[in-house]
Amino acid sequence: MTKSNASSEQLFKSTDEDYKSLFEHVGCGVYISTKEGKFLTANQVLLDMLGYKSRSEFLSMDITNDLYVRPEDRRKFRKMIERDGRVIDYEVEFKRKVGSPITVLLTSHVRYDSRGEIQGYEGIVLDQSQRIQMEEKLQIFQEDFKRLFENIPVGVFVSTTEGKFLNANQALLDMLGYGEKEDFLKIDITKDLYVNPKDRHRFRELIEGEGRVVDFEVEFKRKDGSTIPILLTGHVRRDRNGKVIGYEGINVDLTRRKRMERELQEAYDFMNKIIQSSPNPIMATELNGNIMIWNRAAEETLGYTAAEVIGKMGIDKIYPEGMARKVMQMMRSSEYGGVGRLNSFPMVYVRRDGEVVEGTLSARMLYDSKGNEIASVGSFVDLRERLEMERALRRTQEQLLQSEKLAAMGRLTSQIAHELNNPLYGIMNTLELLKTEIPLQSKRRKILEMAHSETIRLSDMLRKMLSFSKPDQEARQPVDINSVLDEILLLHEKQLRENDIKISAVLAEGLGRILASKNQLRQVFLNLIANARDAMPKGGTLTVTTSGTPDEILIEISDTGIGIPEENIGKIFDSFFTTKDEIKGVGLGLSVCYGFIKDHGGDIMVDSRVNLGTTFTITLPVNKKPDPQTTN
Ligand code: ADP
Repeated sequence: MTKSNASSEQLFKSTDEDYKSLFEHVGCGVYISTKEGKFLTANQVLLDMLGYKSRSEFLSMDITNDLYVRPEDRRKFRKMIERDGRVIDYEVEFKRKVGSPITVLLTSHVRYDSRGEIQGYEGIVLDQSQRIQMEEKLQIFQEDFKRLFENIPVGVFVSTTEGKFLNANQALLDMLGYGEKEDFLKIDITKDLYVNPKDRHRFRELIEGEGRVVDFEVEFKRKDGSTIPILLTGHVRRDRNGKVIGYEGINVDLTRRKRMERELQEAYDFMNKIIQSSPNPIMATELNGNIMIWNRAAEETLGYTAAEVIGKMGIDKIYPEGMARKVMQMMRSSEYGGVGRLNSFPMVYVRRDGEVVEGTLSARMLYDSKGNEIASVGSFVDLRERLEMERALRRTQEQLLQSEKLAAMGRLTSQIAHELNNPLYGIMNTLELLKTEIPLQSKRRKILEMAHSETIRLSDMLRKMLSFSKPDQEARQPVDINSVLDEILLLHEKQLRENDIKISAVLAEGLGRILASKNQLRQVFLNLIANARDAMPKGGTLTVTTSGTPDEILIEISDTGIGIPEENIGKIFDSFFTTKDEIKGVGLGLSVCYGFIKDHGGDIMVDSRVNLGTTFTITLPVNKKPDPQTTN
């Protein structure tokens, strides 16, 4: 055997093997048959297709009667193949071994023997039912896809990179207000669809960079020009060579979502407004104490702004040491209004400036849907003002009690003074009488004079005591304030001069009159002048001025004395408040002034600087009624 023979034999052998392999694995039935109707050979696929397990049984069947459902079909087949030499896609029904029919497609040609005579047929058998099934599946798939494309409630598109739509579903047309798809496919996406054409460039950058874009938020124009918020998700389409030829994807209408977001935001804003406008401080904290909510009242009451504390400061900073933890413990216990609650618990907070704020705290624990603690919220009632009022009330009550005691004392004083008055006058008269009997040069005359002047002083004191405890009920009459002041200043001029006190009086002319008790007014000015004198032990100036409007008269009595310290200013009008020793003062002067002036519908105020002096300002209403008679 030559070399070429050997290789061709090899070739033949390998080709033969290839054929055998092809024959078995070709994926369709393959057969060779005699023209009379017996199979000479058949591959496994055909046996399986027709349900034969045994090859010998298959080869021994009579094709015309055992295989064909209608034997005349075999005759038709033979006629065609012998006439044309081949048959393509001849659809015919075969019987499976179990008897059930199967539609097959037969493609065959004739085999000739060496003499050129038809020996038989060979060809392939395709299971037509399988193909029909496949076609049906494809059809269903296509229909499903089409239905999905048309009915999916989001816009679906296919576009070119340059910016034209190739296809779009009805939902997209509806969303963008296009009646005709034709119109829609004509638009220039960048110019006609995007509100902001830059967004389309950005979209292209993203999609071509990543191959896809997810949830790209953008604003589109509808056909009528109105705008619509859209969420765009897409990916690139490529040709066979991988070149990007366009995009496809979905557009979701965000109008509803945006509206819901807006409504949610509005609801949040509303809730926030309620929290912010609460007159009481409201604070919410995370479990670790980080502040989450801090309303305006909290800002005002505690002095920290929301910006300073939210997410930046722990709530423990405003509690006294250890109190923040105690509040949480109380809320977790059931003893302070139930688990998760704290009701009107007395609490003090420390303001930013260090001042302590007193009040009550009511708090609640907040839980998630599973019942786990997530945060706490507290509302504080600032009771500083109320507590201050209560304290003032208590002080007033104490003062009232004190004044009642004083009133009783006053009554007693007046009785004593009254009782002492008569015998004192008796003594005074006796002394007066004795004076006529003892000559001026006599030594005893001097002693007598002293005794007499002391009794006069005593009677003066008694009169003062009587007027404090029992103000005289003199009838009110129109009074010219300047003349009262003139009179008093004249009387005291000498005494003041002796104390190195200068008098400066500036009395305005043409002031109206006041309906008043002259004696009471005298008493008021006397007391104020006496106080001014006491305040200027080393001398100074006493200034008395009057001025007025048609409605009221203003009287100012100023000294250049020691002044009143800040802490005493609130107390000087109280009865029995005095800074003087027992002989000089009893602390009744200003309280009497106050009572008299208020009784006359006026007011008395004080302004004082320590070591510079004090000014008392009295206002009294002008009498508008015509004078019944002129008495002064
Ligand atoms: P008294 O003069 O008996 O002390 P007052 O009621 O008249 O009682 O005055 C009460 C107190 O007010 C005085 O003790 C004094 O401390 C203070 N005060 C009143 N007037 C003056 C004044 N012009 N300058 C300084 N302190 C004054």
